Amino acid sequence: MAAHFRLPGTVEKLSTLIGHNSISSVLPEYDQSNLAVINSLAGWCEELGFNVQILPVEHHPGKANLVATLGEDNGQGGGLVFSGHTDTVPCNPEKWQSDPFTLTDRDNRFYGLGSCDMKGFFALVLDAVEQFRDAEFKQPLIVLATADEESSMSGARALAQQNALKPGNKTRYAVVGEPTSLRPIRMHKGIMMENVRLTGRAGHSSNPALGISAMDAMHAVMGELMNIRNDLAQNFQNAHFAVQSPTMNLGCIHGGDNPNRICGSCELAFDLRALPGMSNDDLREEIRSRLTPVAQQHQVELEVEPLFPGVNPFETESSSAIVQACERLTGASSEAVAFATEAPFLQQLGIETLVLGPGNIDQAHQVDEYLAHDQIQPCVDLLSQLIKEFCLQ
Ligand SMILES: [Zn+2]
Repeated sequence: MAAHFRLPGTVEKLSTLIGHNSISSVLPEYDQSNLAVINSLAGWCEELGFNVQILPVEHHPGKANLVATLGEDNGQGGGLVFSGHTDTVPCNPEKWQSDPFTLTDRDNRFYGLGSCDMKGFFALVLDAVEQFRDAEFKQPLIVLATADEESSMSGARALAQQNALKPGNKTRYAVVGEPTSLRPIRMHKGIMMENVRLTGRAGHSSNPALGISAMDAMHAVMGELMNIRNDLAQNFQNAHFAVQSPTMNLGCIHGGDNPNRICGSCELAFDLRALPGMSNDDLREEIRSRLTPVAQQHQVELEVEPLFPGVNPFETESSSAIVQACERLTGASSEAVAFATEAPFLQQLGIETLVLGPGNIDQAHQVDEYLAHDQIQPCVDLLSQLIKEFCLQ
């Protein structure tokens, strides 16, 4: 096993991380604390000489972020952040070939829940840092480990409100190690999920005047949402994306109870994935202002509420030093992906951020999740080179 890592201890670290159940979920019966992962990482970082801060996430008991800093963070604020999330999605152990919480080496792959998304990244970061034990860090190296990425992103949201990572005068750079098969990703779409509730008045179906049909009104609301969708598709395109326009999916609808009763209330939930340059807040406002007259016309009460706070679209300029370095070191041009990450929250702090990590997104959130051995050495080499270029020179 050890042959695939520079250091034998790295497999043990990965094995320890996989062994900690750190599932996060909006459903309380699945949700677990991430403190075991945070404490393990904190201990290893301390051994390597990092200054370690564990930051509890407010209003989320049992959840914390880790900010570990190697080298003097003298307030100038430059340097490099390696960022990852400590949680995983829930899994179905009965469908796995081996225990999801036991690291299993099979077919030139390390199997385990979180092996690719994304506990493996932390093990490789520590493996890369180990060789700079005695080096003089001119710019700080920061390892950031967050809570709840797979559910509410409460960890990244909390960090965006805090000072722990804020850069000073110098530009600070970050690599978010999500599984991208080591391809540099400098943009992704945002995501928001919204719920529309229309309230009319139930009544006997024999006389339409006895009620106000929320379902009839929803028909009109859906028409307007589809108009908005068409307008967005016409007005916004980005050729970097496989699906080049913003998308809106009307995902589920619930209303009414009986054919002979006027429908008193009806709810629709949809998602909207905006392109870089668009803002979720602006979109929410536009949707509200276009649905309000439709509801008034149908005399129903309209409520539009986010199902979660959303993630903004993300883009880092191709001229950024971190994009340039990762393109040069991987020999690959930077790309866009369809999944959302914590990158916009780091960007919000003024940190120039790129998404790049080991493993394939196709294996994330899947039964028998694995990290392929052949991702490991190239990733450690790449991380080592980034440390040299951004922290030691
Ligand atoms: Zn992930």
